This record gives sequence, structure tokens and C-alpha cells, in this order.
Amino acid sequence: MLKVAKFGGSSVRDAKAIKRCGRIVTLDPDIKIVVISATANTSNELERIALLATQAKGWEQALEDLVTRHRGLIHDLDLEEGEWFHSLENELWELGDLFREEMKVDPARMDQFYSIGERISSAIVAHYFEHSFLQRRVELIDARGLIHTDNCYGAANPDRGMIADSAPLHFRMSDDALFVTQGFIGADGEGHTTTLGREGSDYSATLIGEAMNADAVQIWTDVAGLSVIDPKLIPGAPIIKEIDYACAAEMARHGAKILFSKTLDPVVEKGIPVFIGSSLNADAGGTWIRPGVFSDGFVGIAVHERRDLYKTTVVGRFKSELLADFEQFIISRKPLSTTMNLESEEFNKLVKLLIG
Ligand code: ASP
Ligand code: MG
Repeated sequence: MLKVAKFGGSSVRDAKAIKRCGRIVTLDPDIKIVVISATANTSNELERIALLATQAKGWEQALEDLVTRHRGLIHDLDLEEGEWFHSLENELWELGDLFREEMKVDPARMDQFYSIGERISSAIVAHYFEHSFLQRRVELIDARGLIHTDNCYGAANPDRGMIADSAPLHFRMSDDALFVTQGFIGADGEGHTTTLGREGSDYSATLIGEAMNADAVQIWTDVAGLSVIDPKLIPGAPIIKEIDYACAAEMARHGAKILFSKTLDPVVEKGIPVFIGSSLNADAGGTWIRPGVFSDGFVGIAVHERRDLYKTTVVGRFKSELLADFEQFIISRKPLSTTMNLESEEFNKLVKLLIG
């Protein structure tokens, strides 16, 4: 069995969180590839620092804080800072200087800058695993050697054929192997660093899952699965236990934040199951997206934008009568989704009708 486990930024936010990831991996020897995001808020911070540097405004302090935060993490895990950390730190400062000199954020350079967030967090996790799991051969793999993309910096498109060729050369499987790599980042044909789009680490995990013919891909985040509606909007919203690929992809496309929109593309064809769960509470269950499931009727509500109006998409295979009271707000109707613009009063009515 081969499982790919992706841990998002909140799952690696501090030493306690990383130890929880460690426990998940220890309890399941089938997890052989671990995909790591930058620690919580790091990508946002890198974006902010790059911009500040172009204005020569307080970027040094912000960068120092980011470095200090990661140094703290290393110490909290009883690890050594090591040469690897200093060279990544140097790279951060060099790029910061370039942003300042050029007074603009060049997209290719920004991708290089972003990548350091993932490269630091994955190195920390790999070192931690190495120290904690003596019985496993831990190897840190640079995702840029296998996630081949075009050169659309900031939203690069992966070449799945090339990834399928490369991945097995890097992840050389054995019973005791445990690989750690980065989500979100890749490289173009000239070897320049690219990124798959913000929140794209989920996508990295399924790309690797496809390339390695994984038996499952796990996406560990800070909520126990995909809810019928974003629990930040409706606290306590029920979790969807099982959902088919098409409906889950529709939820993601229309704004369900838990899943990056293209995540399921690589796994549908091979029918690789995807599990979404909470690393904060791994026993709480989660959502399974897998073949053999057919989601009937109403599935969930995805909210795309929320300015004055809620751009709301109802996902599922339901009869159009279900939304009879909302006819006048409908802006598009597709086989698996109906999208509406709703004022907050109507939005609440819809939630009451569909979720209770
Ligand atoms: N670190 C990246 C971001 O925050 C990718 C990810 O976490 O999925 O966008
Ligand atoms: Mg995410």
C-alpha cells in the first residue's frame, strides 16, 4: 500500500502541530510520501514582505520575524539549525534585496521567494521525522525535480506525463522509506521555480498520487472534512462523509475553500480515493472522495464571493423544484450546480431550507 499524505500550513504551524503530523505518520506505515505546505501564514507573509521591499518599507523586520519564527520551530523540536537553514535564510535576504533594487515584484522571482516557505517547512519536518522515526529511511525530495510545469509563474500548469516519468525516479520505494517533499512548488523547462497557484499544495499531493499510483491521498487540514457549507459561515455545519469526484470538484470550483480547485483532476481517471481530515483531531473522521460513491440529491453549498451579495452555488443532483423559491436569483444552471446571487436575507433562507 502507498498513501500520500499532505499536511497544510495549519497542520505544521508549530512544534505541537508537527508532532501531531508525526503521530499520524507513525500510526500508518502505508504513508510513504508526505507533502508539506509552508507553515501557517508564511506564503501571505512572503507576499507582503516582497511588496514592502519594493517600497523599501520595513521589510527587513518582517523578514527577520519570519526567520525567527522558523528558528523557534527548529528549537522547539530539539533540532539543529544546520547549514540548510542558513542557506535558505540567505536566499530569502538575497531575493528581498532584489525586490528592493528592482522596485517591483517579478512573478518568477516571487515564485522563487514563495518556494522558500515550503522548502523550510519541509526540511524541518524531514529532520524531525529523521530524529523521531529511527526505523525509517527519511529522505527530503525537492519537488522542483519532479513537478514539471509550464512557465505561467504564480499559476503554473503541471505536465502530468512528465511528472509520471520523473516521480518514481525520486521516490524509490522500499518498506522503510519515508519521503518528505514540498507542496505548491515546481519548476519549468528551464529549471526556474514555479508555483501552482495559492493553496495549490493539495494539487501537488494528487499529482504525486497519480504519478506514483498511490492507493490513497490524504489531505490533512484544520477541519475534519468537507462541510455542506463553509463552517466559517455556518459554525457546526455537518461534514459530508462521502462524496463523488464530480460533486467534490464542483464544490471546490465554486469556492469550497478546503480543496484547491484542480485537486481532483489527477486522481479521477485512476480512481484514487482522497481523504480530507483534521490533523488536530485525526480520529474525528473526515470526508472520503472516491469511486463507487454516487452523490444523490442536494450535496452542499459553496460560496464564491461575499461582498454585498453572496454568490452561492448549490451543488448536487437535485430536482429544480428544490430551488423554486429562488428562481429569480439564479444566474446559471448546470447539471451539478445552480448558482445564485443572494442578499443575506435570502442566503439565510436558503441555508435554512437546505441545511436546517
Ligand atoms: N503555501 C501555499 C499557500 O499558502 C500553498 C498551500 O498552502 O497550499 O498558498
Ligand atoms: Mg489548503
